[in-house]
Order: sequence, then C-alpha cells, then structure tokens
Amino acid sequence: MQPTLFISHGSPMLALEEEPTAKFLQNLSSKLPTPQAIIVASAHWETNEPQITGAAQPATIHDFKGFPKALYDLRYPSPGAPQLAARIESLLKAVGFNASIDYSRGLDHGVWNPLLLMYPDAAIPVVELSIQPHRDARWHYKLGQALSALRAENILIIGTGNLTHNLYQAMRGNHHTVPSWVTAFAEWVAKCMSDNDLESLFEWERLAPYAKENHPTAEHFLPLFVALGAANTPLNAQRLHSDITLGVLAMDAYKFGAQ
Ligand code: ZN
Repeated sequence: MQPTLFISHGSPMLALEEEPTAKFLQNLSSKLPTPQAIIVASAHWETNEPQITGAAQPATIHDFKGFPKALYDLRYPSPGAPQLAARIESLLKAVGFNASIDYSRGLDHGVWNPLLLMYPDAAIPVVELSIQPHRDARWHYKLGQALSALRAENILIIGTGNLTHNLYQAMRGNHHTVPSWVTAFAEWVAKCMSDNDLESLFEWERLAPYAKENHPTAEHFLPLFVALGAANTPLNAQRLHSDITLGVLAMDAYKFGAQ
C-alpha cells in the first residue's frame, strides 16, 4: 500500500540549489515503496473542473520567467499513463466530478521539480491532476478520496504546493528572521495533523492563524487536501520535513496513510 504525500516545492530553483528541501527530496524515494505510477495534483494547474494529463509522453513545461538558462534546460522525460488517466477520469466521474482528460498538456514545475529530485531517472509514469482554486478544501479532499483505492495498486498520490505561500513577501527578500505569522500557521497545521483534526483543517481559512497572510490565494494549499483525501482514514500524518525558504515559504512535507 502506497502512502500519500504533500510536498512543498518552493522556488523553481529547487532542482538546482543544494538547499535542505532538495536534499530531503533526494533521500525520500529510498524510504518509500517504489511506485508503479505517480499521480500529482499541482498548484500550477488551475482549471474550472478536474482535468488529468493523458499524453503518452508529457512535455516538461517551464512555467516561470526570469530564471537562469540552466533551469530552462532541465527536462523530466517520464512517460505518461494514458490508461491510468482514463481510470482516474472514470473514478472522478463516478462520484460526480465533471472530469476530463487533456491529451496535450505537459508537466508543470510543481510536478517535475520535486520528481527530478525524488526519481531522477524519470522512469516511472506520471499523470498530473489539476486543482480548482475557486473550490474549497472539502472539494479537494473528495477529489483525493475518489482516487484512494489506487494506492493499493502501488500508485503514489502526491499533492504539490507550499505549506505557506506569500510570494509578494518572499520576493521582498528582507526577512532576517522567520516572521511569527509564518511559524504560527505552520505549527497550527502540524497540531491539526497530530490531532487528526480534519474538521479544523477543512475550515483553515477561518480557523488557522494568519491564513490570508500565508495564502493570499489558496492554490498552493489546496493540493494538501488531495493528499489527505487520497490517504482517507486513518490519516497517520507524519511531518517528514520542515524548513523555510525565501524568508517566508514554509517547505513542510507530510506523509499520510500507510505507516
Ligand atoms: Zn508553486
């Protein structure tokens, strides 16, 4: 049985800089059963209704501007998994989602950046799942839940975003110490996880300290709920990693489900 993961992917430079989160990701795959395929819900694919990549050979999308050429030269040539995409579509439709397959879309940096560190061979087929930023945490939990059975078929389900994501503050780059509004939010999430308190997590925009400061928009937090839903219960949440990058971006990673 595969666990599910939430991964904070940080800056696109993650794959090139030797920072603690990159090292963590490089070591992570050796601690997991090798999956047969990987499904990744990414903050960087926002759609009105759930979509799934269906390309047999998805391209690497360099969906960022102003970074060094070395980053644009990186490729993640993993195969896609058209049959798995079709199964995901039918699993989602079966519970009422108006899901569809996008046969031309490639993998964005929220997907390939962490996978390049975790599985550098790019040999494991990857399917990407979109998020719906106008929908709430419960919606994304249900999205994950619909895919939960695939874990028993050795399929790894990952949500990729950032535990905190105030990009405006990150770009200002003048943070000598980590602001308390960042740590307060990250520790509130950690407490909910250790208490198995899903109900509070669902209400994070209302209950979490400094929710709006940490997530002026919700898209980098919502993939967490796909991972939570796919784990189903018991959650068995484990905080695998925590770090802060660019002053205010919490880089927490969590594992759910399988022990
Ligand atoms: Zn991102």
